[in-house]
Amino acid sequence: MDIPFNKPYLTGKELVYIEDAVKKGKISGNGYYTHLCHDFFERRYGFNKCLLTTSCTDALEMATLLIDIKEGDEVIMPSYTFVSTANAFVLRGATIIFADSRTDHPGIDEDHIEALITKKTKAIVPVHYAGVACDMDKIMALAAKYNLYVIEDAAQAIDSFYIGKDGVKRALGSIGHLAAFSFHETKNIISGEGGMLAINDTRFSERAEVIWEKGTNRSAFFRGEVDKYGWVDVGSSFLPSEIIAAFLWAQLENIVDIQQVRKSHWEYYNNKLQNWALENEIQLPILPSFATNNGHMFYIVCKSIEQRQSIIEKLKSKKILSVFHYISLHGSPFYKNSYIGRDLSESDRYSDRLLRLPMFYELDVQEIINAL
Ligand SMILES: *Cc1c(COP(=O)(O)O)cnc(C)c1O
Repeated sequence: MDIPFNKPYLTGKELVYIEDAVKKGKISGNGYYTHLCHDFFERRYGFNKCLLTTSCTDALEMATLLIDIKEGDEVIMPSYTFVSTANAFVLRGATIIFADSRTDHPGIDEDHIEALITKKTKAIVPVHYAGVACDMDKIMALAAKYNLYVIEDAAQAIDSFYIGKDGVKRALGSIGHLAAFSFHETKNIISGEGGMLAINDTRFSERAEVIWEKGTNRSAFFRGEVDKYGWVDVGSSFLPSEIIAAFLWAQLENIVDIQQVRKSHWEYYNNKLQNWALENEIQLPILPSFATNNGHMFYIVCKSIEQRQSIIEKLKSKKILSVFHYISLHGSPFYKNSYIGRDLSESDRYSDRLLRLPMFYELDVQEIINAL
């Protein structure tokens, strides 16, 4: 392919900082670069506490341990999402209650959530699809009313915001009790594989560190708060090495530039495709008034699965790779036999008709416009 779907962008400092991390003589986790990254996120986005993880999947698994997900608990989330959103909860025996997507956007339809809440419901997991906020005022109000946890799947949502009814702009990932981010190479800010858990509810701060460090109080020990460390709780090895954190730091230093370029690509697509979309009955992305755009993804919603296929083939003939994703999880080979629930027609519609166009820092968007 001449134009790939994604191309990881390097700022040029990644190897410099990795070399520095190696020379510092401590390359396991929770060192110099890890702390730089944590401080950066806590200060810039107002997350109460951050812990880097080896993936967003891991951050979600940490969240399930923190809120004590048990066999039989019910968790509400959209069906149109990545596998990890659900899998983290399934690992702990939860029953997933899938909600449909909005008609104007692939995110969870906030107005469908309340009817799905039962005595067994423990958490709501909104996914900020394409970095576009879910209506967090509605979701947090439901959580307060029914005493539920909210775990934001903010994998795609770095540097994006929710504008509340009070007019205040809050970073995605700072609103729910917990939030999970991804630095996988297909995201805006990358470290190959990588992720982060944002802990906004201070009740979880201490235990999160323990779960992160194999169930030990090693973090507190290194800070001199306890005089020996040992096994104090369940946990796993969720922390990345300093090599990964050093790579991530090189990216974070350039976040303003990276975001600016991606957002300008997004705007260019959106402006240039207006007429084409109208002529072909294609829907361009719609941003709810409470959401900002972080240039994570440019997608189109086709009028039919056939039209989508013909656009994919047309682009392929010009050596441009476009991709679609998310077979609705309730219809996936793994879950479809255990799914009991309504039709999720919007979710299925996005599965059939949504198409993602190439989006990466070094992209020349005009080439895709010409091809279309
Ligand atoms: C990318 C992604 C994940 C998984 O992230 P990893 O870092 O690869 O584990 C989870 N949820 C959503 C919505 C994603 O887009």
